[in-house]
Amino acid sequence: MPTSSFLPFAFFEGKIIPAELAKINIMTNALQYGNAVFGGIRGYKSRNGKNFNIFRIEDHYRRLLNSLKIINQKIPFNLENLVDVTVELARKNKPRTDFYIRPLAYAADYELSPDMSKVSFDMAIYMIPLGEYLPVSTGLKLIISNWMRINDNIIPARGKIAGGYVNSSLAKGDASRMGMDDALMLTIDGHIAEGTAANFFMVRDSTLITSPKYNDVLEGVTRRTILQLAGDLGISSVERMIDRTESYIADEAFLTGTGAQLAWIAEIDSRKIGSGRIGPITKKIQRLFFSIIRGNESKYSSWLTKI
Ligand code: PMP
Repeated sequence: MPTSSFLPFAFFEGKIIPAELAKINIMTNALQYGNAVFGGIRGYKSRNGKNFNIFRIEDHYRRLLNSLKIINQKIPFNLENLVDVTVELARKNKPRTDFYIRPLAYAADYELSPDMSKVSFDMAIYMIPLGEYLPVSTGLKLIISNWMRINDNIIPARGKIAGGYVNSSLAKGDASRMGMDDALMLTIDGHIAEGTAANFFMVRDSTLITSPKYNDVLEGVTRRTILQLAGDLGISSVERMIDRTESYIADEAFLTGTGAQLAWIAEIDSRKIGSGRIGPITKKIQRLFFSIIRGNESKYSSWLTKI
């Protein structure tokens, strides 16, 4: 993911300002302890190339507000304010390529203690150009990480909580150093939870299977999208526990996420998945998903917010 370039404007301390001026003090509580929650939302160029659409913006902000509820914090913005300011910012930024929106609600006080009852949260939003975060056409090589997924009673994976991403960073960093694309993480009791920034799906005997919401996964907006699309395409799906070794013998497997989009998996722990090529069910869902985000499918147009 590019880290050095951003679109020119950001929302910071209640105003839209030049992004390079959106800076926080080193004493900021969020920086010390990861006391923040964030989102990741994509803007896609439409099929005719004339406008951009943001994908499922309200669902992303609903999750952000839920993440705040989990950590018992509030921000001075409701769902409608967040959507409005994001659309305004996206318009002002005049994107020329697909882009990514990063909203961040963070403990803005200069509070030394990690005591969350002593801090108040503010909201910041920035945008960057973003193409593929993971390759979607060449087949991912994954490892199962020996870093376990954080548990609901440790740091809830259900929320997109900044501090919890040290867990993802450890697993992703080690996977990258091994030349792999990403890692899957197991729960403390040894079932597959998810990737470092994406949900995991596999296909066995023509049924789509993903780890349930009560298994230390982020409640992915793309995950929900894919389950609905599978239903609409007449593909049966089930949310259930998945053993590590069951992933090795899957017919097909893929990761889903705002960054990942729908990226198929060629290999897990050096075991070839299915034929080692993209499987027919994955292909069918991926094709529909990519068509929807480009604005080609009127049935799903309510998921797109035009900027
Ligand atoms: N799991 C984790 C840990 C993630 O960081 C993400 C990316 N937000 C996902 C799953 C996918 O969620 P979504 O589809 O909402 O982007």
